[in-house]
Amino acid sequence: MGHRVLVVEDEEDIAFPLVRTLEREGYDVNWVDNGQKALDELVGRSAEVIILDLGLPDMDGLEVCKKARAAGFEGAIMIVTARAGELDRVVGLDYGADDYLAKPFGLAELQARVRALLRRTGAGNGSGADDSEDGLRIDVPARRVYAGETEVPLTGKEFDVLNILAANKDKVVSRGRLMADVWDENWYGSTKTLDVTIGRLRQKLESVGVTERVVAVRGVGFRLEAPAPHA
Ligand code: CA
Repeated sequence: MGHRVLVVEDEEDIAFPLVRTLEREGYDVNWVDNGQKALDELVGRSAEVIILDLGLPDMDGLEVCKKARAAGFEGAIMIVTARAGELDRVVGLDYGADDYLAKPFGLAELQARVRALLRRTGAGNGSGADDSEDGLRIDVPARRVYAGETEVPLTGKEFDVLNILAANKDKVVSRGRLMADVWDENWYGSTKTLDVTIGRLRQKLESVGVTERVVAVRGVGFRLEAPAPHA
């Protein structure tokens, strides 16, 4: 009855506590230590979430990701990697992953992410449309944003950032991409400006009760998340 999670990780020191934690949480966990076994596993008994390490002994985790999608895997894929410096680049290319986590990560954070992935993929309820009443509405041509009937006053940059995040809802958008798309390429200032803009945007959205949240993905970028379903 538990959701099926496939852990693809060659380092036992990382895999063991991970598997134990997920099992304790009630998931039906399967662990493999290389890419080929992961792909074989998907043919037989499909998982709802794959937690995929990038540094595998037989093939690159990104290759596994691509092949799984090409083979029609429709569950969620979360990439975990110690190559934190590469995450920004990896997120920019679309390998079909849904989320990214840099090692070392906390098990509590990982659990929260897995729950969010299951919610998003609608595992267990089959519903996709979950637009809530206070949900965000963006009028792109007019460059205006509404929370229900209330307009949210945003600056030009805040609007641009939100618009990109909303167009990639529930996916991570890298800092690099936001910087390049919202500020111009010749802009050499600190990325602190992005954080400040995100901070203001969050405040404004929260103040009018928007249920979507702008979530920071450490070392990678940001994601606009749908609200958690009411318990
Ligand atoms: Ca590894």
